Amino acid sequence: MSRVAYVNGRYLPFAQAMVHVEDRGYQFSDGVYEVCEVRGGRLADERRHLERLRRSLRELRIAMPMPLAALEVVLRETVRRNRVRDGLVYIQVNRGVARRDHAFPPPDTPPSIVVTARSLNTAAAEKTAAEGIAVVTVPENRWDRVDIKSIALLPNVLAKQAAREQGAKEAWFVDKDGYVTEGSSSNAWIVNRNGKVVTRPAEHGILRGITRTVLLDVLKEQGLDLDERPFTVEEAQAAREAFVTSASQTVMPVVRLDGRPIGNGAPGLLASALRREFRRHSELT
Ligand code: PMP
Repeated sequence: MSRVAYVNGRYLPFAQAMVHVEDRGYQFSDGVYEVCEVRGGRLADERRHLERLRRSLRELRIAMPMPLAALEVVLRETVRRNRVRDGLVYIQVNRGVARRDHAFPPPDTPPSIVVTARSLNTAAAEKTAAEGIAVVTVPENRWDRVDIKSIALLPNVLAKQAAREQGAKEAWFVDKDGYVTEGSSSNAWIVNRNGKVVTRPAEHGILRGITRTVLLDVLKEQGLDLDERPFTVEEAQAAREAFVTSASQTVMPVVRLDGRPIGNGAPGLLASALRREFRRHSELT
């Protein structure tokens, strides 16, 4: 089926879905994005994703391209036109098209917006979750505003490629003190020997993942022990379980870290249970 993208006010077939050469997303990565899971044709935790979009835009002083209610319509229409039942919807908003100059363009420059949607193979995702994924570590080399969901993702691109080249699915950034910050496109978690779930606080050094936020609610509801603090690579290697969270993978068990098995080398029981439980907690709209 041919895909359709929403580009600055129009729904276009992919072959015609283009941005201007002086679009600031293209020139400077001067923009932000969101990725929201689509499940059964509905959006998962849309409200939280749009709140984070608004926050990212506010931090960079980029205007919201349209009222929230209109954006909600565009997201649904893009999902519908692409006949996505289970998949992802992607939103990018950037500072718009203007003559190339690093400083902000004139204030009346409209922000650019692109929305795309695509289907995911849920059977393949479940198979991956049943096997677990391998993760490698890479030095943290990003700027200190990774709390903003910026489209400037060069370190993340290089980290993911490094993982791929080592036969792994994700890379964990490790800060100069030896602590894991987060994955190249996911948040990082472990379950330690005492059964405590450990994940880095979202105040600094990571993106406040929506999946992470929802999972914290699940942990609370289930009465599970949570320790919101940074953990080291050594701690992760000695952990009982590890997993990552993101809108595109929900809860994904990690079974190897830098080539060494975690726990018994199979997906953890808790991670697998949380994956099932997470689905019941997402807000579908
Ligand atoms: N950290 C990074 C760097 C990411 O790119 C993502 C995925 N967008 C996440 C964490 C997870 O965030 P979410 O659960 O909102 O998808």
